[in-house]
Amino acid sequence: VPKVLWSEMLPYEFKERLEECPIVYLPMGICEPHGQISALGLDMIKADYMCAEAARRFGGIVAPSLAYHIHEVGYHSPWLETEVGENNPRMTGMPPDVVLRFFLYQLRAFVNAGFKGIVVLSGHSGGNQADLRVAAELFQGEIPIPMWVGSDPELVQGLYNGDHAGKYEISQLMHIRLELIDKTRKSLQDDPNSGGRLALGADADEASPELGQQIIEASLLKLREIVAELADASSRITEQPMVHYDTVEKVWTQLAEKPEAWRSSYPYPGQQTVSEQSRWKSYEYFGQT
Ligand SMILES: [Zn+2]
Repeated sequence: VPKVLWSEMLPYEFKERLEECPIVYLPMGICEPHGQISALGLDMIKADYMCAEAARRFGGIVAPSLAYHIHEVGYHSPWLETEVGENNPRMTGMPPDVVLRFFLYQLRAFVNAGFKGIVVLSGHSGGNQADLRVAAELFQGEIPIPMWVGSDPELVQGLYNGDHAGKYEISQLMHIRLELIDKTRKSLQDDPNSGGRLALGADADEASPELGQQIIEASLLKLREIVAELADASSRITEQPMVHYDTVEKVWTQLAEKPEAWRSSYPYPGQQTVSEQSRWKSYEYFGQT
């Protein structure tokens, strides 16, 4: 089994693998509730798994993953009030400006390490991946590097419907790490001191490792296409000069001009207003007065 994690490679191994295929994968996820039955890090675990498996099969190197992601703000806040209520979600949420600026610096690190194509796969989705794409496109305006930025349900669009802690996601984790799902704990949601339903999907009972395997394999088929396209485009990329802070700051300044245009900054049309007394109220609109 070839080594694919950047963090595990010796410098000569990195160099050899980079020469074979100059593609880097960035797995992104978060810890957030997926019902009483599931590990909190489901979104991170599936992104890690798919990136590592893609790198093993199709080439490339997996960057250290980012298990902190945009949550709480905008459309997340009414969702949280409904799905999690006033319970502690035990989540690793970050505001969008912090994540997006950090993301730009991650892209810089990849270019400076010698990569010529970037795959960003987020296991956490719902709209924030659109903001990552806007940031990536602005970055490409300065540094022309081929990139694919998306969430895992986007890999299987038309085949499977992504969900939150339902049949789709619980199946994914059952396939990857069966021991991290414990369906016997579902009854905890009836215990008033346990934290409630914690965003479990209505059809989670229908989840199975077999369905999870089908979803993950379909995702990897799509990743194979994406990597082939990026590898092809990367062959036309000449040696990049070092990207310095000032280039990233220039991109960040453009992106930061309009936080009200970020998808994660505001609720979706038709979402309910967050109750005044809710712990999620202050997050409803980000960067707007
Ligand atoms: Zn999830």
